[in-house]
Amino acid sequence: MPSSITPSSMTINGGLLSAATWLASPNFNNRPDNTTIDTIVIHNISLPPDEFGACGTDGVHYVKALFTNQLDWAAHPYFQTIKGAEVSAHLFIERDGTITQLVNFNDRAWHAGRSSYLGRPECNDYSIGIELEGSDFVSFTSEQYDTLAAVIAAIYSAYPKTRRHLTGHSDIAPGRKTDPGDYFEWAKLRSMVAKQL
Ligand SMILES: [Zn+2]
Repeated sequence: MPSSITPSSMTINGGLLSAATWLASPNFNNRPDNTTIDTIVIHNISLPPDEFGACGTDGVHYVKALFTNQLDWAAHPYFQTIKGAEVSAHLFIERDGTITQLVNFNDRAWHAGRSSYLGRPECNDYSIGIELEGSDFVSFTSEQYDTLAAVIAAIYSAYPKTRRHLTGHSDIAPGRKTDPGDYFEWAKLRSMVAKQL
């Protein structure tokens, strides 16, 4: 292991990203048999909405608490509206670029919900879900773009079929979801990823 992990050293082994801190979510199951992972779905999330880095009294980041079924639903009025939600993503990227992996890429995370991509339903079956800490109303940070571009390049390498299908939650669940939102710079991301290939 290198003493410091740089974005260019990101690798994926056995479904785990080297540069991520592992935090196991119980919210996953097996992908259907013989599934080819061929799609990456970008999301944004913040808890409470539009607040970044907020933690519970236990010091746990609210988003990480949500993804591990540890969120105190009484801690904020908004949390009542999502009470009981059992959701996850493969990766969560905070505002400073820190990466947490919650579900092995080879397993099926619960990020997309009811969804369809290019006529294929159930995007969770065949996609990798990446949550950026953010909102539809604020720009994402340069650290997040740097991290995300390196992560996507690593995913392309480990799961080559994903190279053709990089999309957003709003594209696979139109009318129901709006993330990652209009502030997400797709062209910038694509050009940053291309430089890493
Ligand atoms: Zn989403």
